[in-house]
Amino acid sequence: MSSPKSEGIRTLAIHAGEKPDPVTGASAPGIVMSTTFVIDPDVSFSAEDFGAETPFVYTRWGNPTIDQLEKKLAALEGTGAAIAFASGMAAISGLLLHSLKMGDHFIMSDVSYAGAAELVNDFLPRNGIEVTKVDFSDLAAVESAFKRNTRLVYAETPSNPILRLTDIKAVAELAHAHDAQLAVDSTFASPIATRPFELGADFVIQSLTKYSGGHGDAIGGAVMGRVEDIARIRQGVGIHLGGIISPFNAWLIMRGLATLPIRMKAHAEGALEVARFLEGHPKVGRVIYPGLPSHPQHELAKRQMRNFSGMLTFQTEKSTETARRLAEKLKIVHYAVSLGHHRSLIFYLPTDDLLRTSFRMTREQERSYRAYAGEGIFRFSVGLEDPEDIIHDIDQALND
Ligand SMILES: *Cc1c(COP(=O)(O)O)cnc(C)c1O
Repeated sequence: MSSPKSEGIRTLAIHAGEKPDPVTGASAPGIVMSTTFVIDPDVSFSAEDFGAETPFVYTRWGNPTIDQLEKKLAALEGTGAAIAFASGMAAISGLLLHSLKMGDHFIMSDVSYAGAAELVNDFLPRNGIEVTKVDFSDLAAVESAFKRNTRLVYAETPSNPILRLTDIKAVAELAHAHDAQLAVDSTFASPIATRPFELGADFVIQSLTKYSGGHGDAIGGAVMGRVEDIARIRQGVGIHLGGIISPFNAWLIMRGLATLPIRMKAHAEGALEVARFLEGHPKVGRVIYPGLPSHPQHELAKRQMRNFSGMLTFQTEKSTETARRLAEKLKIVHYAVSLGHHRSLIFYLPTDDLLRTSFRMTREQERSYRAYAGEGIFRFSVGLEDPEDIIHDIDQALND
């Protein structure tokens, strides 16, 4: 196995976790679609005895293709281990179930992926877990949210959809000073831009559906962390709750990961060009992109992100009308949810809807959200097409 210390990120993305097939000599990894494995009757297979060295028994416990994906993910994030799930939401809910129990307190950023925000609003309080949501760009607010029973802090950076950043190092220090752990959803950054574990986070979450897979054809998720933590998650959540990834999706995502470093470079280059173009467009109001000096946390972005990724947002006047026009007129860019694919995707997110269905905010938090998003924003996942073609497509649809 490759060591994350000695090799560059492009080499790791291609080779980590993989080796030529010892039987056939195949250079590319195969897909092992077997649910079960012929086993030695003398080996113990109780879930309690399950460890990294246990032979493959049953695919819900472990599978050679999924194992290769997990090793590659751990190498890219610089963690000891990774566990893959059927979706990003399965990874998030799995981590919450692993880390929290009745009577615990949980702190989350007030703006985060809508699915995660909704899960936390209803599911955790119903199970006796107290939730506090704060603006993670305000470190004093984060600090004052801690209670005696705070167990887990959950950040998303850059946050979906407004691209607000969290200073991972600072929040990790706060969490550890209060005997809590920090989990970071790093889907928008990818391990190419930010490696939260190296900045002090205990857990890293990825929706593999997005940049990791990168081609819009497979849903998956993962949690990365220390070897002993991931082993416990595998036992308590992976094996028992059973939300594991299919070997076929693991294979597709692994193939996507091989080109992640060079794709992220092209995503960031394209997004910067598009962001600059939109900033100068007469029909466009505010543009938010971590790589633009106008981003309120551009200094933090430069410090924490090695690549500004491919996500940006912008506002227009009469945005509902604009959304309809874009959906109708765009030829290259698809009007669709999701992000991080080679295809450019755009979607309109009305502020009132998000506030009502996903973010249950205080007045102050609402004011801060509206300062970023106005009445609503277009979330633009800049794909890998030629930037001039993307710009031309957006321009003709906006001006129509
Ligand atoms: C999409 C997304 C998720 C959920 O991932 P799925 O694979 O769709 O379940 C979680 N977090 C972020 C930031 C996302 O963008």
